[in-house]
Amino acid sequence: MTKDRQKLLDAIAQEVREHVPCGFEVCEQATNLVPGEGSATASVVLVGEAPGASEDRTGRPFVGAAGKLLDQLLEEAGLAREDVFITNVVKARPPGNRDPRADEVAHHLPWLEAQLEVIGPRLIVPLGRHALVRFVPDVKITKAHGHVVEHDGRSVFPMFHPAAALRNRDLRATLFADARALREAL
Ligand code: URA
Repeated sequence: MTKDRQKLLDAIAQEVREHVPCGFEVCEQATNLVPGEGSATASVVLVGEAPGASEDRTGRPFVGAAGKLLDQLLEEAGLAREDVFITNVVKARPPGNRDPRADEVAHHLPWLEAQLEVIGPRLIVPLGRHALVRFVPDVKITKAHGHVVEHDGRSVFPMFHPAAALRNRDLRATLFADARALREAL
């Protein structure tokens, strides 16, 4: 069963990596598409917005500065990278790190849905407002962060994006408090 789930996740990852050409700039200009990685039986799936420069270079999610902070937050939540699955709404780095466009999100969203279908996590943790809006459309991250929100049959635990805490030091304490709340929620 676990093996089957892993195989299904691997097949999705392979499809993502081999996806171009498709006519979308975001996919075709990427060095590597970044499917995501982690446990096929994860109870927590973390979802960022889109890969940055380090992720584009390596093909792995959250390996740059924001990723280092994410590792510390996971530790605070009592989780290791191997326990969770980490991915993004959009699997390719938008040129110049701009926000992904709506048509690009729509182009990539079926992969995220397929990953969630295979893993069936207890909690989905959207990182930042761009990821949050995919799961709970009508809520502000400033209000919803740090606790479980039930929406559409899913349990969602919104958190601020770690990159935001690299720019705004005050957010760092909030993120660590939310990581402790995530530990409680599990
Ligand atoms: N920011 C994201 O949203 N995702 C990554 O993978 C890295 C940085």
